[in-house]
This record gives sequence, structure tokens and C-alpha cells, in this order.
Amino acid sequence: MNVEVFKFGGASVNSAEGVRNVARILALYKGKSMMVVISAMGKTTNALERILGYYLEGDAVTLAEEYYKLRDFHLGIARNLCQLGQNRPDRTEASGGKDTSHLPDTGIAEVKDTSSLHPIVTDLENQFEELRNILAGKSELGYDETYDRVVSFGELFSSAILFHFLLDEGFPVTFFDARQLILTDSSFRDARIDWKKTQLAVQKQLFTRFQDHKGSIGLTQGFIGSDSSGRPTTLGREGSDFTAAILGYCMRVKEVTIWKDVPGILNADPKWFENPVKLDLLAFHEAVELAYFGATVIHPKTIKPLENANITLLVKSFLHPEEEGTSVKSLREWKIDIPIFIRKQNQVLISIMPRDFSFIMEENLSQIFTILAQLHVKANVMQNSAISFSICTDHDPVKIKSLIRELQKSFEIRFNEGLELYTIRHYNDEAIQRITSGRNVILEQKSRNTIHLIVQIT
Ligand code: ASP
Ligand code: MG
Repeated sequence: MNVEVFKFGGASVNSAEGVRNVARILALYKGKSMMVVISAMGKTTNALERILGYYLEGDAVTLAEEYYKLRDFHLGIARNLCQLGQNRPDRTEASGGKDTSHLPDTGIAEVKDTSSLHPIVTDLENQFEELRNILAGKSELGYDETYDRVVSFGELFSSAILFHFLLDEGFPVTFFDARQLILTDSSFRDARIDWKKTQLAVQKQLFTRFQDHKGSIGLTQGFIGSDSSGRPTTLGREGSDFTAAILGYCMRVKEVTIWKDVPGILNADPKWFENPVKLDLLAFHEAVELAYFGATVIHPKTIKPLENANITLLVKSFLHPEEEGTSVKSLREWKIDIPIFIRKQNQVLISIMPRDFSFIMEENLSQIFTILAQLHVKANVMQNSAISFSICTDHDPVKIKSLIRELQKSFEIRFNEGLELYTIRHYNDEAIQRITSGRNVILEQKSRNTIHLIVQIT
């Protein structure tokens, strides 16, 4: 289908100005059919995770505090934006008085601001009221299901705000509830897509819309879906990119664009690396490697449907929409002449030795791998010698504790904390020098395209 699929992340809509900027970008594509996928605003998902925590701990005071903060943040943006739309009388309604009620068991009082009943405000208030009702009740569902119910509000808030703003600005926009498009199983927090059902839903809702209304805009939420009983599910953190890929795949579009606060995919994270360079072109297979080694640019889940349908992924800057960004596509032949750097902090190196001075042999290895798999420990680097086998992994204290306990039953264990893992793809001497100089490298592993350097920090 000839539809642009655009995903706007949290950083692009963390203020009223951000929302206006999204509208400006959409205006650049005027006349084209567009499907817009929106994430929660700013750090809303993190805030909702905290709110969920306070709710489950029964900390009513902090819960109320965080809830109001989040509500004020969204209503502030909404009010700022709807001032623009106030000259349109058909979308403003009469004002009423203040309505205050109190729910003693959560400490969250309902304070309805009915002074400006623009639909952007009423919609948001209703959503916050719905969230408040959930938080006022007892939690009867399991943790993961409750998580999805609460955390999915972030995308509902942002999409409501953007929708009303675009309408006010005269965009031909239609709202789609992602819970009726992205149909999943019931693995809450990490829901699997039911591709058949999702394809059908997209066909029924989006195909018809875009066929009948060329040049129109569809707007939906990233990250969220629903299971076969209609219960909300989420696709895992940073799942909005995946939503855009799913919709792109189901509509067989040519390109999916992810709008970010960086000029494209860079050869290193600017948070720790000075003067990173933007990559113009990246092969999907390289993007998968980068993600595997810990780069957070694009999730392999997102890449799969795009690669399968031969769709190009564009990563572009929402601050400089006219600039080219990075194009990621299926390329057999792909060459790069600059190194790509990936840093993983908080690593631990575990060395495993047989207790009986025997060598590390097949049986030992298979036992070690079984334990790693059972405990879901991912080895970021592995290295073996005749008498020991070492793995470098993320320092997740709970997991590492059970891992060591399990391994100690059969092996002698040594471990090293306070490490960082640097991976350089397409390395050269200068790149290695840049990472190692002044640092204490405790393990180095090289293959043709990749070097791993484990560095002691503390
Ligand atoms: N809002 C969700 C998150 O922060 C999904 C996303 O932004 O992609 O993880
Ligand atoms: Mg995000």
C-alpha cells in the first residue's frame, strides 16, 4: 500500500512544542496517506511503572503524588495546545463547575477541571479517571496483567492529545485504537503477535480507510494491543517501534520511518562517545548484530517483519526532518569504512572451573549451558581454556546469585564485578586504541569483524 508509516517516540512529544513539531512534520507530507504510531509522552512509561509499584505496595501517599504529577503534565500540554483550537466553536463546549470527590483508600482525590471543556481536556480527564478507578480498587490480577492495564495508559494519553490537536489544526485524521489492531496472545508485558488476526484487523480497518480516503491520516498507539478476551497487553519496553513495523508489514508499505532525537543511527551512543558519526546506510543483518551486542538502536523484533516484507526502515531526526537520516534495508553486500562502538555497563565476568582439576570438556560445557539456559542468563562474551570457561554477562544481582549457587554445586567459581564491555564492529587499531587507552583491559576477544574488550572500572 502506498502509505507512510511514521512512529514518533516519547522524546518527540514530551511538551506542547513537541506535539506542534509532530504536526509540522506531518504537514510536510500533506496529501500522502499516513499511519502515525505514537509512544507515551516523555518518561510517562517509567512514571506509570512507579505508580504501579506504589499501588501494589499500598503506598497511597506517594501514589497520589505521582498520579497528580502525571495528570498535571498531560493536562498542561493539552491546555497549552487547545488554546490554539479555541476559535473553533464546534469543538468547544459549555463550561461547568468543579467536581471534587475523594477516594480514601488511594488518597487520590478526583479534581475535575471543568472550566475548559475542550474535548482534548475531557478525554484526558476521563482517561485519568479510568486509571484512578483501577488504582482505587484491589488488585486481583497477576502482576503482569496489572502492569499492562496500568502502563498502557501512557500511549492512550498521548494519542488522545495528538488526535485532538491534529483535528483542531485541520488534519484529516482518524483515530484507531491499537487494542483493536494489534491482536496478541496473553503473555502480558511481552505479548506475542497473532499475525493472522492482526493482518485481518488491519485489512478491515486500515485498508478500507486508506483506500476510500487517499491522503488521510490514521493515528494509533504504539506498544499496546489486546488478547483474545480483549484484555490490554503490551509488547515489551520500547515496543512502539515494533508496532510501526507490524502495521507496515500488514499493509505491505515501502518504508517505515522512526522519528528520533538523533540524526539517524550513529556509530556510537553520543551519551558516552564524543563526535559520533551518522551511518547513511545499514544492512538489516548488521543492525541485528549490533542489537545482539547491546546497541539499543533498533530491536531485532522490529527488524524481522520489515526484513521479511522487504520494507526499508528510515531513522530520521524530528528536529531536522529535511535531513536524510539512516536507511536500514536488506542488503547482501554491505560495506562500512568506520568502526561501530557499543558499550555495555555493569557487567560481571564469571570463570567456571571443574573442581577435580579435570579439563573443560563436552560434558562440562553442556552442563554449564543447561544452567545458563534454565536461568535465562545471556552470555555477552564467552571464552574458554583447557581448565576454565568464562562468561561475561549483565550484572543482574538476583540472577547472578542463583547462577553462582547453581554452578557452585559442580564447579569452582571466580567472579569479577565492576566491569564494562566494549564491542567494536569493523574495528581498526585506532578504534581499539580509543577504547583501551588509560583503561584496564582484563579480557580481549577478536574475530574478523568484531572485538570485545572487557574493562575493569572499579
Ligand atoms: N512507551 C513505551 C516505553 O517507553 C513504548 C515505547 O516508547 O516504545 O517503553
Ligand atoms: Mg520510547
